[in-house]
Amino acid sequence: MKKAYLDNASTTALRPEVILEMTKILTEDYGNPSSTHSQGRNAKSILELSRKSIARQLNAAASEIIFTSCGTEADNWILRSAVKNLKIERIITSKIEHHAVLHTAMALQDEYGIQVDYVNVKPNGELDLTHLAELLSEEKKTLVSLMHVNNETGTVLDLDRVSQICQEHKALFHSDTVQSIGKAKIDLQHTPIDFIVASAHKFHGPKGAGFAFVRKNSGLQPLFFGGEQEKGQRAGTEAVHQIAGMAKALELSYENLETESLYIDSLKEYTVEKLKANFPDFKINGENTFYNLLNVTLPMDESKTSMILFHLDMKGIAVSRGSACQSGSIRPSHVLAEMLSPDELKKPNIRISFSHFNTKEDIDLLIEGLKRI
Ligand code: PLP
Repeated sequence: MKKAYLDNASTTALRPEVILEMTKILTEDYGNPSSTHSQGRNAKSILELSRKSIARQLNAAASEIIFTSCGTEADNWILRSAVKNLKIERIITSKIEHHAVLHTAMALQDEYGIQVDYVNVKPNGELDLTHLAELLSEEKKTLVSLMHVNNETGTVLDLDRVSQICQEHKALFHSDTVQSIGKAKIDLQHTPIDFIVASAHKFHGPKGAGFAFVRKNSGLQPLFFGGEQEKGQRAGTEAVHQIAGMAKALELSYENLETESLYIDSLKEYTVEKLKANFPDFKINGENTFYNLLNVTLPMDESKTSMILFHLDMKGIAVSRGSACQSGSIRPSHVLAEMLSPDELKKPNIRISFSHFNTKEDIDLLIEGLKRI
């Protein structure tokens, strides 16, 4: 059976060069980077070269990159330490964040009694930045946590503008950049953001590796205690092969960014054309969305909502509803719930997310699959 993987916002296939790099390290460079013998020093050197390479892609200092196991860990660490150690009294976030941020903010509200405020979401999925400035006018020690590219709709936040608003109000700014790292250029010398996070499996690297960018002298304290790895910021033996795979994946993503993003954008346009031709009343959720994401509501009977993914899966087509962690659930997406009316929310909706590995044939397969539902 022909298959079409159109769920690249959930995770991506590894690039062949990344597999080669990781296999070499797993086979030959198995030393512990904290050991002082030559095998250990070799592993340490791979680790530090990876850190430098990642920092270079983002125009950051190598010392500002801390390796973690995933994006979720990096988000949890930054939010938690901001409250516990930096004495943040309020988190301003939005109801369309990934649960790695949203649930962490709610847990911190319970545990520390901090204030959590939510920036209004406009019907087109963008955030109301005038409301953000209004919220910030109440003077309080604040961390703003707003994601760059929304993982369900692909709506994009203007990082420069929000960094500037936060600076004007002396608030710290964290952005969950899991969906944009490797897919959009970010220059951390130019954008005065305090913290960002990444996850390797979203940019054709391995699962089980991520990193946090933590601006110099931030004062964050570790979440885990143990060894002195990552300058004491994140105890636990580093997964050298995963980290080197992540660095390789990021390097290749940025090297090929222009050609790959143009190609992916053309696939998205092709999908929209095909949907228009076959389902004239379909609706795109979100405006000015990121080039690899397309969230649509389909003009189909409500009774098809819960089975649509299953039917497509039977035909070899992988897409999702909402984020991967929620796609098994019948609850409507918490992101779309902020943008759509209750009636619209009941209609079948899917998130199609592309990568450079996709072809027009994948889209044709999806359209044929949808026509037969
Ligand atoms: N933040 C966003 C925006 C995501 O899309 C995801 C993954 O879906 C995460 C955080 C969590 O990343 P990880 O899978 O590395 O924990």
